[in-house]
Amino acid sequence: MSDNLNTDPQVERGAKDYRTDLKPIWCAGCGDYGVVNAVVKAFMKLQIDPEKTVMVGGIGCSSRLPLFVATYGFHGVHGRTLPIATGVKVARPELTVVAVSGDGDGYSIGAGHLPHACRRNANITYIVMDNAIYGLTKGQTSPTSARNFLTKSTPEGALENPVEPLSLALVMGATFVARGFSSRPNELADMIAEGIDHKGFSWIDVFSPCPTFNRVNTFDFYKERVQPLPDDHDRTDKLHALSLADVEDPYYLGVFYKVDKPTFEEGIDERVKEHTAQGVTLDKLLTRYA
Ligand code: SF4
Repeated sequence: MSDNLNTDPQVERGAKDYRTDLKPIWCAGCGDYGVVNAVVKAFMKLQIDPEKTVMVGGIGCSSRLPLFVATYGFHGVHGRTLPIATGVKVARPELTVVAVSGDGDGYSIGAGHLPHACRRNANITYIVMDNAIYGLTKGQTSPTSARNFLTKSTPEGALENPVEPLSLALVMGATFVARGFSSRPNELADMIAEGIDHKGFSWIDVFSPCPTFNRVNTFDFYKERVQPLPDDHDRTDKLHALSLADVEDPYYLGVFYKVDKPTFEEGIDERVKEHTAQGVTLDKLLTRYA
């Protein structure tokens, strides 16, 4: 955490209270700069206490983000961002937990964790910086790269169709599903703040271009195609959200879906209270497995 941390609850926290002294080592023009700015703006908006906040990252350029934000942080292993974040939340439910990763970490290596994070509905905000390429390993095709995408790993073009993250999130049962663009940090900050405020698993996919290795999905590519969600979209209408998630021109930005359901921590808390009221001890519970 930063030595300059403002811990006085009476004094409004500004951007410097949420930034560490470390300078990001991302390439010039990387989309992830916009995302870290949006995270800081969201924290300022909510005035969240950095000492009661944990950011968890996986592996990849984007997963370095917790290093640059003055909260507690955990730099995990590849693809395991969500299990670590879930463990933190279950152990310390009073903490705000924000998990960050990239499309490789989240949608390929860690993809097996997505349905379970959705169905558990732990109160975690998950931000995926989606650049449709593996940047840290110098430019291989990722799960969100387009069909026929040319990289070192697919020199004749990718033969797979890309994953569509929002459709996955909706079908798997995430209770908050949104899409942002790193070039619009104010909008993205509002989305992140709303995701943190949401009681349950919030999944925010962010177009965050990699100008070094992806010359297709550039800032200009998205600027020409993004649009806000239609005003009449009902955020509780999953089928309508699905029909908008799949559209590629325009790519809609905003909160596609938001519903309330019990969280994983609430379920655990209820069980503990039931057992405590019945005088059931941990030792007694463990005898079931003997
Ligand atoms: Fe960003 Fe791409 Fe550079 Fe990684 S390689 S820091 S994703 S621009």
